[in-house]
Amino acid sequence: MADMTVKGAALAAALAGNFADLPIYDRRAECASRDEIRALQLEKLKAQVAWTYERVAWYRARMDELGVAPADIQTLDDVRRLPFTDKSVLRDTFPYGLFAVPMEQVVELHASSGTTGKPIVVGYNAHDMDVWSDCIARMVQMAGVVPGDRAQMAFGYGMFTGGFGLHYGLQKLGCTMIPAGSGNTERHIAMIEDYGTTVLVATPSYALHVCEVGEKMGYDWEKSTLRVGLFGGEPCPPALKAEIESRMHIVCTDNYGLTEVMGPGVSGECLAARDMQHIAEDHFLWEVVDPATGEPVGEGEVGELVLTPLDKQAIPVLRYRTHDLTRVVCEPCRCGRTTARMQKVRSRSDDMLIIRGTNVFPSQVEDVLSGIEGVTPHYRIVVDTQDGLDRMAVHVELKPESFSDSFEAMDAFRRSIEEKLKGVLLVGCKVRLVEPGGIERTTGKAKHVEDLRK
Ligand SMILES: [Zn+2]
Repeated sequence: MADMTVKGAALAAALAGNFADLPIYDRRAECASRDEIRALQLEKLKAQVAWTYERVAWYRARMDELGVAPADIQTLDDVRRLPFTDKSVLRDTFPYGLFAVPMEQVVELHASSGTTGKPIVVGYNAHDMDVWSDCIARMVQMAGVVPGDRAQMAFGYGMFTGGFGLHYGLQKLGCTMIPAGSGNTERHIAMIEDYGTTVLVATPSYALHVCEVGEKMGYDWEKSTLRVGLFGGEPCPPALKAEIESRMHIVCTDNYGLTEVMGPGVSGECLAARDMQHIAEDHFLWEVVDPATGEPVGEGEVGELVLTPLDKQAIPVLRYRTHDLTRVVCEPCRCGRTTARMQKVRSRSDDMLIIRGTNVFPSQVEDVLSGIEGVTPHYRIVVDTQDGLDRMAVHVELKPESFSDSFEAMDAFRRSIEEKLKGVLLVGCKVRLVEPGGIERTTGKAKHVEDLRK
């Protein structure tokens, strides 16, 4: 087995296809057969629904209205008889309305920062903390962390689940925690040097900042002890990850999770399938539904992720609507794990457009454009109506070298993009070619859609 404590070893082993060299934290849970996983999920679902019905008035009332009792849950598909939970439920019952255990048993509270109105608060009893730290330990091992690693935290601690979640899980795996917290980049770099830090927990944009400040200070990342970057808190585009990996000489992964169902660690990226994340299926039942109807989509198709934590005691949540769009595949992974994998979330159902009855996501447009030579990643979708019918236009920005004076050539290029978009979106659209730099840039989240129908 390759020595994973050596810088670059995990990435090198993965790149060489030596996945057997990469350790697995909990083989029983992560490498069980699909039948074993489903049987365990059903057993836990039954118990979880009974626990929730008996202890949480809100769910009891909703289930009574729907005419469903805990005893009606006989198969995993019966989960569809249960009510959905939206973020608003956690807000409306703030602070303790969904709690299922007495406060004396709650060992920790966390909250997610609401941009509007009240935050949502969640509680954990000792059992929940155990499950959570176990999910994280599993997830960080997937990312190449091993017992004995020294992990430096660059997330802020506080009410947000990222800091403490990663802290407990890394400690559970057997790492030495260095709770540096957020801020003071030069101090972070000095600590990496002084303490021999091997793992950095950060947002990807902060990791890039640490990288750049280090370069300016003359710090040699290639000789640094730092081996692994664990990212979270914001989406990590593949290009950013690749850049940090090559400049800092580390392997970087990110994980998925949300405060409402636990925190980080719901799923994590392994080194074999880097666009996908293994779901901790013994703790979470997943569904992928059509965001408009709530009905399941076909196997492997894109839809909204709905999560039911299977052994969450302090604040049980049934069928939580994440509004995150993904697809889930169940084939075994090259890393040896058998747990289902979700594609990294790139868009939310809130971004979905319905064009003449067809669901269209900006990420689909992005995927098509990324496969076309001569266009930039900048685009804008404009939707309006004409004679009561929806119309969609996609403004596509050209690269300087693909500009041509020939009207015929440009028109043929435009039509070829329209054809490609129609093939994927299943609805026609007009493409407008825009000169280089013609699509407005923003420093924050790019605005891709202009819906003039409302
Ligand atoms: Zn894998």
